[in-house]
Amino acid sequence: MAKIIINKDKCKGCLLCVSFCPKGLIKKSAKLNKRGLSYVEFDSRGECIGCMQCALICPECCIEVHK
Ligand code: SF4
Ligand code: SF4
Repeated sequence: MAKIIINKDKCKGCLLCVSFCPKGLIKKSAKLNKRGLSYVEFDSRGECIGCMQCALICPECCIEVHK
């Protein structure tokens, strides 16, 4: 099963990846990163299919997909 790693301190919380993940595996965190911005987290309980939609859409290039 694939998984993603999100660089939370580069994330600006635009939520594009949340909208594009076909499996609904990316969620907004209730916490802030070190820049004071909300960020997103991977829900590892779901099944990531490694489609890379999240990584490709992220304007900050803060998502890595590992297959
Ligand atoms: S690789 Fe695809 S399935 Fe996995 S978290 Fe990203 S958008 Fe969702
Ligand atoms: S698309 Fe990138 S910058 Fe936007 S919320 Fe997702 S990880 Fe953060």
